[in-house]
Amino acid sequence: MAKRRPPSIDLTVAPDAAMAFRRRLHGWFKKHSRDLPWRQTRDPYRILVSELMLQQTQVSRVLDFYRRFLDRFPDLYSLADARPKKVMDAWEGLGYYARARNLHALAKHVTTEQDGVIPSEPIALRALPGVGAYTAGAVASFAYEKRAALVDTNVARVLQRVFAPQLDPKSGPGLKQLWLIAEQLLPRTGKTTWTHNQALMELGALVCTARVPRCGICPVTADCATFPRLEAAAALAATADAPPTRKGKRRGAATG
Ligand code: SF4
Repeated sequence: MAKRRPPSIDLTVAPDAAMAFRRRLHGWFKKHSRDLPWRQTRDPYRILVSELMLQQTQVSRVLDFYRRFLDRFPDLYSLADARPKKVMDAWEGLGYYARARNLHALAKHVTTEQDGVIPSEPIALRALPGVGAYTAGAVASFAYEKRAALVDTNVARVLQRVFAPQLDPKSGPGLKQLWLIAEQLLPRTGKTTWTHNQALMELGALVCTARVPRCGICPVTADCATFPRLEAAAALAATADAPPTRKGKRRGAATG
């Protein structure tokens, strides 16, 4: 007997829904985003250093390393010319040392093969050592203000909760679908894409966090497909936690 195919899921985001989501998200970001040094620059080298440092590492840990690394290697050429041990010394304590080796290899490659110019298109960026799909999207949109999507763990979680709770963001097929959603949400211009991608990441880092999403302060509850379920669960928990009344009933519990 022929195997039954799983029902196909329509993950099209209507243009109106995408626009409403973006409007709320960008408005929130303008008021609540953190002032981070890599948001003050469009220098592709500095963006690249920050993105590689931020892989699997929290912002608070990266801040000092980022400043010190750039003091020692202020541009691509100073990094390319450095001895490997000096680069590893500057990375010491940050962990995941393959990132430092890749960054060094990238600097050597770009300075010798590409006239010291870090490419601006995601497809060319992906050919560089240590640059995956996320980092390519990040450098293209944050350094060059290109209209390029990005999906890291935080963004995947946000998009899954808001638009596709049925997907598993940790599975290959789920992640692929989330990239398609991220592309549908992109604003029209590269300049606004900078804000959009930063805002998605910031929402995932500060509000739609992994364990306990902070829906009470979230700007996109009206767009979020997961919010009604979480809201109902919170209401139920609050009812269960309410102290019993004199008659032994819980305040807020149904009386019928
Ligand atoms: S409403 Fe809650 S689950 Fe939905 S995006 Fe906001 S924080 Fe995340």
